[in-house]
Amino acid sequence: MTRISTDILISGGGVAGLTAAALFGTEGYSVICVDPAPPVTEETAEGADLRSTAFLQPSLAVLKAAGLWDRLAPFATDLQVMRIVDAGGKIPSPRITRDFNATDVSDLPFGWNLPNWLLRREMVRRLEDLPNVDFRPGTATTGVLTRDAEALVDLSDGTKVSARLLIGADGRNSPVREALGIGVRTMRYGQKALAFAVTHSEPHGNVSTEIHRSGGPFTLVPLPDRDGRPCSAIVWMERGPEALRLAALPEAEFNAEMTARSGAIYGPLRLETRRTVWPIISQVAHRMSGERTALIAEAAHVMPPIGAQGLNMSLADLRVLLDLCRAAPNRIGEDPMLDLYHRRRHPEVLARVTGIDLLNRASMQSAQPLRDLRAAGVASLYALKPVRRTLMRLGMGARG
Ligand SMILES: Cc1cc2nc3c(=O)[nH]c(=O)nc-3n(C[C@H](O)[C@H](O)[C@H](O)COP(=O)(O)OP(=O)(O)OC[C@H]3O[C@@H](n4cnc5c(N)ncnc54)[C@H](O)[C@@H]3O)c2cc1C
Repeated sequence: MTRISTDILISGGGVAGLTAAALFGTEGYSVICVDPAPPVTEETAEGADLRSTAFLQPSLAVLKAAGLWDRLAPFATDLQVMRIVDAGGKIPSPRITRDFNATDVSDLPFGWNLPNWLLRREMVRRLEDLPNVDFRPGTATTGVLTRDAEALVDLSDGTKVSARLLIGADGRNSPVREALGIGVRTMRYGQKALAFAVTHSEPHGNVSTEIHRSGGPFTLVPLPDRDGRPCSAIVWMERGPEALRLAALPEAEFNAEMTARSGAIYGPLRLETRRTVWPIISQVAHRMSGERTALIAEAAHVMPPIGAQGLNMSLADLRVLLDLCRAAPNRIGEDPMLDLYHRRRHPEVLARVTGIDLLNRASMQSAQPLRDLRAAGVASLYALKPVRRTLMRLGMGARG
């Protein structure tokens, strides 16, 4: 039986785990990253992740430090304006529209959008450039035992690993988190999200639009043109049975229903990819660290996809971990560092999950008086310029 030593073992090679591998690999650490599911790196392949990720400004520094941004930039679509639309009146057409323009707070766009399958492709290619990163797709973490000096991790290929730092990036049901006995608080909404890409006749003008009616937001995020037609990624949240009904509709009927739900803001919408369905929950781990272990991304926090917070918070986890490693490179994975990681991230994570939970519940409302109250709330918050600017900065990832 082989026992190998590494600085860092990353359990989970989703987008967060792959970014962590590129980041700590670029920093010079020896890294092993394992995932039982090999990454799907083509849009049309079975199992492709058809969501997109809007990276907000603070994430750029992490992508650059991981040597990823130069690869991703040619495929990224600038997000210049965040538009909030309330369509909660008697008919599903926009009745209140408010634009949050990045120029109000910055010289840069507020974010950049990229398809998730493409992120995986470019991240795997980046890891191939890093001889100190051993990426093992098709291999799972099967056992974890921690002690003061190391984390001992068993892998499904029979390898036993001793790591100075174990990073749990293995998703919302994280086996690492469970092995450490760290509990979670979960909130359920009975809601699902459909994620897919569409083309439309009207240009998106680099505007990301969130339309609120009932059941949850309908969000259009700009993508590059496709076969000469403007293209957007859509996340459409609805109560579970309604989402499943929509997912099963014949394509022509689906196109008609989503065009109506969009208030036809870009003209008729045409489905361009499969429809994928994602369960929606909020969840926070009671702690973000344990002995020799840091939890990041969905292993530590899950929330509804509103305001593009999820993966951006995961990159914020990585930013803090990297800073702590840089401050004491010879002491990575020791208790003081991991305690500090927990204390720096957990309050911020709790605040953001609470905020997104409230926004989601407001967006789900079906009773007319509550929808009217929501519309009035959006209008009055927007009207106060300092409040609007603070909300924009917070939304872009500034610390509260
Ligand atoms: C519809 C939708 C839209 C979203 N849009 C955005 C957005 O625009 N911006 C944004 O910031 N966020 C967004 N998010 C959130 C974002 O997608 C997630 O935060 C992100 O994908 C989570 O990544 P992850 O790597 O933590 O989890 P996952 O992608 O679930 O990865 C976990 C990995 O762990 C692996 N694993 C499981 N068991 C083991 C094991 N035993 N050993 C090793 N590995 C294991 C799994 O195979 C998996 O690959 C969205 C989410 C949804 C649902």
